[in-house]
This record gives sequence, structure tokens and C-alpha cells, in this order.
Amino acid sequence: MDQIIYLDNNATTPLDARVLESMMPYLTQEFGNASSLTHRFGRRAHEAIQEARVQVSDLLGASPDEILFTSGATESVNTALKGVFEAYSRVGKHFVTCVSEHKSVLDTFAYLERKGAIVTYLEVDGSGEINLDELRNSIRADTVMVALMAANNETGVCHPIESIAEIAREKGVLFFCDATQWIGKQGIDLQKVPIDILAMSAHKLYGPKGVGALFVRRKSKRTVFTPLFHGGSQENHHRAGTYNVPGIVGLGQACHIAVEEMEEERARLAAMKFVFESNVSMLPEVQINGAGAPRLAHVSNVTFKYLRASEVMTHLPYIALSAGSACVSGDRDPSHVLLGMGLGADEVKSTLRFSFGRFNTDDECQTVIASLRKCISDLRDKSPIWQLFTKGML
Ligand code: PMP
Repeated sequence: MDQIIYLDNNATTPLDARVLESMMPYLTQEFGNASSLTHRFGRRAHEAIQEARVQVSDLLGASPDEILFTSGATESVNTALKGVFEAYSRVGKHFVTCVSEHKSVLDTFAYLERKGAIVTYLEVDGSGEINLDELRNSIRADTVMVALMAANNETGVCHPIESIAEIAREKGVLFFCDATQWIGKQGIDLQKVPIDILAMSAHKLYGPKGVGALFVRRKSKRTVFTPLFHGGSQENHHRAGTYNVPGIVGLGQACHIAVEEMEEERARLAAMKFVFESNVSMLPEVQINGAGAPRLAHVSNVTFKYLRASEVMTHLPYIALSAGSACVSGDRDPSHVLLGMGLGADEVKSTLRFSFGRFNTDDECQTVIASLRKCISDLRDKSPIWQLFTKGML
């Protein structure tokens, strides 16, 4: 096998060649500082950023002045949570989130709890879904914000963001949505869905790493936040620091491509995932996590019982996979997302995430299915636990 099949698109996506092409001038001759408006170099960079702002807002159904450029979703999340906590600390300190959020949300809330925030963590059911009545009942007089992701990075399970946004609006609290895995894969129209603040990242939609955006609804006076960075007056004093012009241009181009191609791509990947899951679920003792819930079209989180996920990855070195979130893969702790859904620690260790993307082909999908079939059966044949299971002794 000469080429590695990349099936870890939720960790990061490859840079689209068209995105790289759009960035190249700003890595070379158009090197100006976008805040230096006294000369041509700066003005060209400034114009490029304004164009990217339009491209991002077009994908979101937002207006360009509602887009703030950041270094990625982690910064966007930190800005939203810490910034709102600080700006609203006299009004209220209660936040509502969920046990299966990304670490950038959970760790920021853990930090804010040490600073006096009170956080309610909604549980998820076996499919990874929250209960909307529980959400409604968790909102109190001192609740400032609900923070819930659009789609889970490990399982692809989607929260009903339109209903959540309505509940938040009805209760008069802010809704922050970490839409990092959603944007560029599923459509959104922020003119219709009343999300107040939204985080996204370029490297999840075939853009460069180290650049992202924060949507902050302008029409509502409620969305005030204290900036994370202080210094220059960039982004109307909301995010100081010299603009990452090539990165922002790349993010804009990635969004533009998504506007044009997202629907077709989603249908193609949904068909690929359907073939993958139909085949994989024919293997014995296999469970597709979150199968009962609405999920992203390209993500499949699969538990191969009585097997170690690490062994499967070792046996299939030509398939780039992951056992879950790249952001915690250095941690020994089993996935908090899967534990939250009620999987046992052993089942979590037997779980792999397959995330398909723009550059995967049907042939690759067939190769992966055939390889998995053989690998799972070979490994189980050698496994004493599997032998005990098949003899009914477990
Ligand atoms: N939120 C979610 C749901 C993610 O999947 C990620 C990336 N794994 C992040 C936030 C952080 O994004 P970034 O890498 O841009 O900091």
C-alpha cells in the first residue's frame, strides 16, 4: 500500500489547493500589514481581509461586521466564554453547557468555575443527545449564557441548534455555539437561527491551521464581551494583534468553496458513510455510536467490542485513523464523550473514529472496509477474550 488513506478529517482537513493558491500572494509579494493604510501594501492586505470577511459572512448568513478573525476555534471559544463571563459578572454567573462538549469549552468552564462561575453540565443519553426540557429547566434567573456545540467532534452527533437558539431567546439568555465541526459541512443561516455567538476554525474546512473566526451578533446589544487580547485596535478593539493576512484569505476562500460545493459534497460523503456503515455493521459485535441521533454526514464512530482500537490502528498503518479527539489523544483518560453516552471504559478503548472528507474516494472506502473486515477477524481469532466470548463464557 503506497499511499496512506486519510480518514481523520475531524482532526484536521488537508489544505485545498485552491485555498493555497489564494493565499500565495499574501505569503510573498503582498506582505503588507493590514493596519498600515498609509501605503499600497497595507491597503491591499486590508482589502483582502475585507473580502474574506464577506466570504465568511456569506457562508454563515451573517453580515461582514459580525465576523471577528481569531487564531482558531480554541481562541474563539475562550474569547466567547471568558469575555462574556467578565462582561456579565455583575448580572449573573450561571452558564449551561453539556458533558460532551469539546475540551476547549469544558476546560475554559473549569477555569471560570475557579473564578466564581456556576456551570450546569447537561447529561446526554445513549445516542449523545441532550433533553430540551432539561435544558429549559436548567436556565435560571442568573443564567447568562447557554454554550452548546452544533456537532460533536468525536461522534458527529448534532445538537438541535435551532430549538436551542429558540429556547435561549425565549428565556432571554445568550446562546454560544461551538460550530467548529459543522461549518462548511452543513448549512446555517444566522439570519434565521438566533445564535448570538458562534465559533469556527479554518482547518476543519480545508483551510489553513491557526486561523478561525468568531461570529458576534451585532444587532443585539446583549452580545457584549471583554476582549481576550489587549493591544492594537484591530477588529474594533475586540481582538488586538497583527492580522494573519494569508490565513484569513485562506479561511475566506475555504468558505467561498463551501458555499459553492457543500451540498454536493455532503451528499457524496453521506453515501460513502452509508456504504461504510452498512458493511461494518455486518461484522459481529460492532456498535455505531450515536446511530440513533442526527449526525454529520461524514463521521462514523464505531466500537469493535473485545478488541483494542490501538491494535487495529497498528495493524492498519496505511489508514490514518484516530481513537477520538486529537485534542486529547495525549491524555490517558478515555473519551469523556463516549463515557457520557454510557459506554464502559473497555468499550471506549475499543472505539475508532472514521471521518471522511473531500479527498476520499469510493475506492478508498472499499479498501478500508475490506481491510477492516480482515483485520478485525484476524485480531479476534488471536484474542483470548474473543474466544471466551464466542464460547459464551463471558
Ligand atoms: N471545538 C471543536 C468541536 C473542535 O473539534 C475543535 C478542534 N478539534 C476545536 C473546538 C478547537 O479548534 P482549533 O483547533 O481551531 O483551536
